Amino acid sequence: MPTIEPSRPQTNLLSLAEPQMTTLVSGFGWPSYRTGQILRWLYQRRAHTIAQMTDLSLKDREKLAEVATIRRTQGCTMLESTDGTRKLLLTLDDGLRIETVLIPDEDRLTLCVSTQVGCMLDCSFCLTGTMGLKRNLKAHEIVDQVLTAQDQLTGTVRLTNLVFMGMGEPLANIDALSTAIHSLTNKSWGLGWSPRRITVSTAGLAARLKDVAVLGVNLAISLNGTTEEQRQRLMPAVSQIASLKTLMAACRRYPLAPTRRLTFEYVLLAGVNDLDEDAHRLVKLLRGLRCKVNLIPFNEFPSSAFRRPTDHSVLAFQTILTHGGIDAFIRRSRGRDVLGACGQLGDLSPEYADRALTQIESRC
Ligand code: SAH
Repeated sequence: MPTIEPSRPQTNLLSLAEPQMTTLVSGFGWPSYRTGQILRWLYQRRAHTIAQMTDLSLKDREKLAEVATIRRTQGCTMLESTDGTRKLLLTLDDGLRIETVLIPDEDRLTLCVSTQVGCMLDCSFCLTGTMGLKRNLKAHEIVDQVLTAQDQLTGTVRLTNLVFMGMGEPLANIDALSTAIHSLTNKSWGLGWSPRRITVSTAGLAARLKDVAVLGVNLAISLNGTTEEQRQRLMPAVSQIASLKTLMAACRRYPLAPTRRLTFEYVLLAGVNDLDEDAHRLVKLLRGLRCKVNLIPFNEFPSSAFRRPTDHSVLAFQTILTHGGIDAFIRRSRGRDVLGACGQLGDLSPEYADRALTQIESRC
């Protein structure tokens, strides 16, 4: 049996977008349909090796393996929360680690996807921000999270929703994000996702909202404050990039399809932005916008000075929004015990990990 995947540095097929794959295929003098064939193996059948591509002749597979390989994420550790949430820790080619979180909920199975290693923003309530930005993820590293998560699911279980709410600021890595979404939504060779089941969340890069519109996916904006001063204090870096006024103007200009609405996320921090007057200001700010609000009670992490509000005050905040004519939902925190909840993705000190985690840890 000839070795068809020697271990020298080679092109990772997953890193090739469709045009580059076309170039590779025509370089071999192969018919153009082979491009789709190879891409389908990568995305629809989640092949891990070129040897698996059995509708290519053995000779062609050998030829391909001389120059290329399939390099999926290597190390994968899974932490399982007592509530069924699973956090996957994935090791990238350069040894850096990212996190992606599987969140089961009634009839949904949502995957929370990362777009950067760390984050260049410094939102004071978010653990990822404390890591700084290590680097942007490449498009295939974004898609790989979906492939690897799906690999973990057994039988007919399928992911139902993708949310770009993991580590990083998706709109700060818009090119890779767009390429990744293209592979995820392509019906002929890609994963065939409906853009309606995909949500991209931003801390407020106002000038780039239009780039989300062209992708046809849902847009979520992490508002978290209702005055310039509040946002500057809670989200200093992104406020420098766009003021609240600029952000809201961009939201009002956003070309929403008739059946869609914007989502505003609002992290509730006890005594900081969860007062009645905050809720009333939020109603005013959002008046006339087709939108809903997701309220996220603060998820604690060590070294944070913020506190989680009581259920009672969360409900009171929601009631003011509802009375103001705004649909508001309380996001049930999931995976807090494995630090897989919103704002809990990032570097962990080992002693905290030992103390706080009740996870079942396993290799993926
Ligand atoms: N940078 C993007 C994507 C990250 S999404 C964004 O900001 O939208 C992460 C979501 O979790 C954001 O809505 C953020 O406001 C929220 N969040 C961050 N830290 C949190 C924490 N400690 N508790 C609860 N929600 C948090």
